[in-house]
Amino acid sequence: MKNNIIEKAEKVIAATYKRPPIVIEKGKGCMVWDTEGKPYIDFVAGVAVCSLGHAHPRVVKALCSQADLLFHVSNLYYTIPQVELASWLVENSFADRVFFCNSGAEANEAAIKLARKYFNGNDEKGRYRIISMERSFHGRTMATLSATGQDKIKKGYDPFLEGFDFVPFNDAEALAGRIGPSTCAVILEPVQGEGGVRCPDPDYLQKVRKLCDKAGALLIFDEIQTGIGRTGRLFAYQHSGVEPDIMTLAKALGNGLPIGAMLAKEHVASAFGHGSHATTFGGTPVITAAALEVLKVISEEKIVDNCRKIGAYFMERLLWLKSRHASVKDVRGVGLLIGMELDVEGEPLVNKCLEKGFLVNCIQGNTLRFVPPLIIGREEIDSLIECLDEIL
Ligand SMILES: *Cc1c(COP(=O)(O)O)cnc(C)c1O
Repeated sequence: MKNNIIEKAEKVIAATYKRPPIVIEKGKGCMVWDTEGKPYIDFVAGVAVCSLGHAHPRVVKALCSQADLLFHVSNLYYTIPQVELASWLVENSFADRVFFCNSGAEANEAAIKLARKYFNGNDEKGRYRIISMERSFHGRTMATLSATGQDKIKKGYDPFLEGFDFVPFNDAEALAGRIGPSTCAVILEPVQGEGGVRCPDPDYLQKVRKLCDKAGALLIFDEIQTGIGRTGRLFAYQHSGVEPDIMTLAKALGNGLPIGAMLAKEHVASAFGHGSHATTFGGTPVITAAALEVLKVISEEKIVDNCRKIGAYFMERLLWLKSRHASVKDVRGVGLLIGMELDVEGEPLVNKCLEKGFLVNCIQGNTLRFVPPLIIGREEIDSLIECLDEIL
């Protein structure tokens, strides 16, 4: 069965991912099982997606109930779950309005379009440039790839969308030197995820906000990876007290169902009028009903508090590993978004972890990224630490 599927996959699936030779069949909580029945503790969670773990009973129930009632009617009509989900997000964030779509890239695409339209509508047509950060990641569509500050994933796709400038992350002076009357927006991740798990200095976001205000530019936070509790606050911007004008969400919002969202303050959001942006599937009833349940569980069960506490514990244990192994160069992160940089290739370690029953992800070639479900406990963390200690 397993070999059959892998053989088939190698023939019929686009070769964009290099995958390990297992086939994952089911999941429950922080565990998944392959087709041989072997269990794994999941420290990837679908890349910071399944924050409530796999097959959460309340989310499954919400999904199935809505599936019985109504799948889809398009955005030509009002539907209840979409409005309820938007209301929850508005009540719990800086934002006034929400545009739903199907992925992170689409959410950033909407943010880029909104920022441009905002100034075009205001008769500031020369204001279209967007400043992004080196090592940033904003998605794989042409516009979001244009906004991404990593050459290795952009290779071969030029020419890119016109109007993107790059400055180093966590360098307010560099931003001050670049921002100006042609800048319509600055886009950044409050903590860089894909780029290596990089946290800025505590006052950096405040400086960025001030520079945007002075230049009259909008501030976009890409919270696709950091949002919905991952960093120990509902949104990562809340650590800094700095509010953006536009924020994008995706990954954990649907706990595995495809959904993205672009949130904005009223004066910015109003640049999108009837017909100015659209999507067939965005915010469809089944997905939004499940996402609303995800958010209810997260708030009712104090999942974000658990993330903060268990994240601190995880960090402490990883620092202990670092103190024992010279090959661990750095441990950094916040909440349950943690990177461990090695002075060796990460892939052999990932493979050994897999053998021992742990799913772990490696980014930038040498940094293990730990983004487990936010419901993870000390026992699971202890067993991973023990495994890593042995391997290292
Ligand atoms: C994952 C991610 C994206 C892209 O999301 P997709 O759903 O894969 O399109 C964009 N920005 C950040 C910060 C991400 O982590």
